[in-house]
Amino acid sequence: MSKPYVIGIDIGGTNTVFGIVDARGHVVASDSIKTLKNADFDDYVSRLKEGVSRLISANDAEEKIQGIGIGAPNANYYTGEILNPPNLPWGPVIPVAEKISNAFNGIPVAITNDANAAALGEMTYGAARGMRDFIMITLGTGVGSGIVVNGQLVYGHDGFAGELGHVIVKRNNGRICGCGRTGCLEAYCSATGVARTAREFLELRTDSSELRNFPIDEITSKDVYDAAMSGDKVAKEIFEYTGTILGQAFADMVAFSSPQAIILFGGLAKSGDLLLKPLTEALNKSVMPVFRGKTKVILSELRESDAAVLGASALGWEAKYRADNPPASPKASLPVEVHQE
Ligand SMILES: [Zn+2]
Repeated sequence: MSKPYVIGIDIGGTNTVFGIVDARGHVVASDSIKTLKNADFDDYVSRLKEGVSRLISANDAEEKIQGIGIGAPNANYYTGEILNPPNLPWGPVIPVAEKISNAFNGIPVAITNDANAAALGEMTYGAARGMRDFIMITLGTGVGSGIVVNGQLVYGHDGFAGELGHVIVKRNNGRICGCGRTGCLEAYCSATGVARTAREFLELRTDSSELRNFPIDEITSKDVYDAAMSGDKVAKEIFEYTGTILGQAFADMVAFSSPQAIILFGGLAKSGDLLLKPLTEALNKSVMPVFRGKTKVILSELRESDAAVLGASALGWEAKYRADNPPASPKASLPVEVHQE
C-alpha cells in the first residue's frame, strides 16, 4: 500500500460533503449529496455509501482507505452517536459511526462535532501544526469551538465539551440564544449576531447609515461588512462592538487554558481589521496581566472549500490509530461512567 488515504465526511443540514484525503492534507477528490431526501437515516447511509464508493473507485483507492472521520452537529466522540441534531429530522439518537462503519465493511469510523473537526484539521494540516494548546473558534451562523489542551481535543466527561459559543457575555438583558439561554456569545458574535446588532443600532439611533437602505429584517453581516468597508460609521461601530465582545470573551478563554493561539475560521473571520483590531484591543485590555501578549489571534490556514472535509478526515486517521492500538483495558478510552441520581 503505497499511499494511504482516509475519507472525511461533513454532515450539514443541507449537504453532506465527502472527500478522499492523503496524509499531507491534500484533498484527492471530493463530492457531495443532499443530506435529506427523506427522514430515513438508513436511506441516507445507502446514498452516502453509493457516493463515497463511486469516488473511491474513480480514484483506484479501494485498498488505500484507512478510516473514515465524520463531522456533524451534536456528534458525540465517545458514543459515535448524533443526539437531537438541529436541522436534521433523524433522531433523537442516531448511531452514525456504527451504521457507517457497517456500510463500509467495518472500516474504523470516528465522529465529532464540526468545530472539533475544524480544530483537528487545523492541528493536522493547518495553522496549528506543532501547537499543543490552542482554541479553534468558528464564526459562522453560530459560534463553535474546539479546545486543544496538551495536544488533545477536550471532549469532557460526556463527549460534548467545548461549547464556548455559549459562554455568557451579557448577564443582564442578554439576547435570547438558540440554545434556550440568554446572553450567549453566539447571540452577539456570529453572523446572525452581527445582523441583530445592526437592527438594534439602527432602531436605537437616528444617524444616517447606508444600512438604512435595506429592509431592517433582511440586513446580513455581509451587508454590514460592505457598508463598513465603504466607510459607513454605523457599520464600523457594529464591528467594533462585535470585536470588543469577542476579545473580552477570548480573555476569559485564555484564563481557562492559556492557549498559544486562538484560531479563527468562518465567514466573519474574513472581516480583517474591522473585527481583528477591536478584538485584539479588547483582548489585551481584558486579559490577566500574566497572559498579556502571549496568545496570538490568527486565521485558519485551511481553504474554506476544503476545510470541512479536511477536518473530518483528520479524525479518520485517529479512528485508524484507535482501531490498531486498542487500550489495554477497554474502559480506559471511555469517560468515567456517569451515574444518574
Ligand atoms: Zn447559547
